[in-house]
Amino acid sequence: MPFSVGQKVLLAHLMDDEGNKLVTDVLPEAGTTINLRITDTLTQDATGTFAYIEFEAMKVDRVKAERCVSYVDHQLMQADFKNADDHDFLRSCAAKFGIKLSRAGNGICHQVHLERFARPGKTLIGSDSHTPTAGGVGQIALGAGGLNVTLAMAGQAFPMKMPKFVGVHLTGKLNEWCTAKDVILEILRRDGVRGGKGFLYEYYGEGVKNLSVPQRATITNMGTELGATTSIFPSDEATKEFMIKQEREEDWCEMTCDEGVKWDREIEINLADIVPMVAKPHSPGNVCRMDELEPEKVNQVVVGSCTNSSYEDLMAVASMLKGKTLPPHVSMGILPGSRQVLSLLARNGALADMVGAGCRILESGCGGCIGLGFSPRSDSITVRTFNRNFHGRCGTKSAGNYLVSPETATACALKGCFTDPRTLGLDVPVIPEYKPVVDDSMIIPALPPKESEKVEIIRGPNIKPMPTLQPVSDLTDIEVSLYTGDDITTDDIMMAGAKVLPFRSNIPELAKFCFNPVDPTFPERALALGRSVVIGGFNYGQGSSREHAAIAPLHLGVRAVIAKTYARIHAENLAAWGIVPLEFLNKDDYADIKRDDHLDMPNLVEQLNAGKNVQVTNKRTGNTYECECVVSGRGLDQLMAGGALLQAAQ
Ligand code: SF4
Repeated sequence: MPFSVGQKVLLAHLMDDEGNKLVTDVLPEAGTTINLRITDTLTQDATGTFAYIEFEAMKVDRVKAERCVSYVDHQLMQADFKNADDHDFLRSCAAKFGIKLSRAGNGICHQVHLERFARPGKTLIGSDSHTPTAGGVGQIALGAGGLNVTLAMAGQAFPMKMPKFVGVHLTGKLNEWCTAKDVILEILRRDGVRGGKGFLYEYYGEGVKNLSVPQRATITNMGTELGATTSIFPSDEATKEFMIKQEREEDWCEMTCDEGVKWDREIEINLADIVPMVAKPHSPGNVCRMDELEPEKVNQVVVGSCTNSSYEDLMAVASMLKGKTLPPHVSMGILPGSRQVLSLLARNGALADMVGAGCRILESGCGGCIGLGFSPRSDSITVRTFNRNFHGRCGTKSAGNYLVSPETATACALKGCFTDPRTLGLDVPVIPEYKPVVDDSMIIPALPPKESEKVEIIRGPNIKPMPTLQPVSDLTDIEVSLYTGDDITTDDIMMAGAKVLPFRSNIPELAKFCFNPVDPTFPERALALGRSVVIGGFNYGQGSSREHAAIAPLHLGVRAVIAKTYARIHAENLAAWGIVPLEFLNKDDYADIKRDDHLDMPNLVEQLNAGKNVQVTNKRTGNTYECECVVSGRGLDQLMAGGALLQAAQ
């Protein structure tokens, strides 16, 4: 039977429920849960710091996955001790647990990973949604929550839904000024930001060979914006060349798509038909052709991010800027994707061309992409080569954020207004053959086990311990600390934002913001009670999958949630942290409860273990409600143990 690249890699890494390799040449049905053996992991500081607090709690001496890398790239600003505390904590954890550490200044995780660690035919999960960038070399690369990455580091399989497969058939060759970014924007125009849900996008066909590895990685990177499970390219001669230049040919193997694969859906793209595209505010799926925009004034241009900051991208920009001066109303920033890229630009003079034109060279990291360090002014237009333009993402709510290729961004900077680069009359940038500067001196290697044993973990005041985890026990006379309505989001439960983000490794501080938009008095009341129950309406916990929306309530003593219905991922997160997620069988029972009521669940443990419904009695009204626990199987095992970490440590 013919298989695609993605299907081959998935089949080669299937595990059974007992953790043994599953030998089969039959593809699991789409939508069923598969267990995937994970060879490689990636973490970044914003999500990774807590992931290592979790790893410590598992009491596993050393990582078991083959290749684990920790990156410091998101929160680089050191305006006070908090981020710096996290960086040192990460360095000591890497030394303790056998992990490589890419230091602050070495670059953005996905760009560095592509250069130094991504490898075809293997599996990678990362605690960052743009982990699929590594699909550009033929790796199955998946974004996941910190806890799943922690479990994978400890050698556990990653449970996921078997995707359907979209075959993206590429023919032809890109025309001058038309780029890989325009290809993925065109797919976003067709499929939208929800069109990829449940699908793996696989690129194949004659056109593939006309795209370099960094171009392929730009496309797989932004597959995330389609909502796709992941995206993948074959591993071919171009991939081999890329690996040879990176001095790691041993990581290469050929991965090709067989003839006659049956796709669940097909997309035809002739690269020669692609034109410069733009995603308008406030969604990466709000795409049109660049030449459809009126020439409105542009105030800021930023080139960089994990989507478009390769050497090829920045050389094109430098070549367009050489000998020019930016208009006075345009501020332009460059975020080189990695130290490797920055070094080569410095050596060959391209950096001088950018600086000479008036660009600001920003630190090699995420910075401006998450509104940290290069936000545009109020009511302005910012044109960026990034992957997301949600409202406020650039740090300025009133700014219009447009996503384009590096060539289009530079054309807009030079003209000071929306400009299709084909109309500028400049020479097309030609990137000469190059050899990257391979220097891993800012990647601290994993220590050998004997030396790791002696390492002490460094904990500054921003690093706080895990909340106490304990197995589920019967609950009697437990108070309702919060009574919420329908559609409570994980943002309502645990907000994000620049004020809150540095506390992700400091749960006691973070928890002070718990349920802030719903009831700002909740944290104080819940802490005073010691243990309590939260009541929810329909679709409780919708929105982002952030696990802190379970961890912060846990810290405040929430032992159970009873809701009309749940968003699935949040219910799983609650169970993974030892909070019992119960659902009213009779939805009218919700109206019988008030805040401050006292509830009894005297046989909770027995009923959960037996897979029975849970009886909940309201001491005020005397009524008893029939409730169902919404997790089963592995989720229920994790819950009963007091959370996934305690279960893994058993
Ligand atoms: Fe995320 Fe932006 Fe950093 Fe990429 S550059 S990892 S999208 S914050």
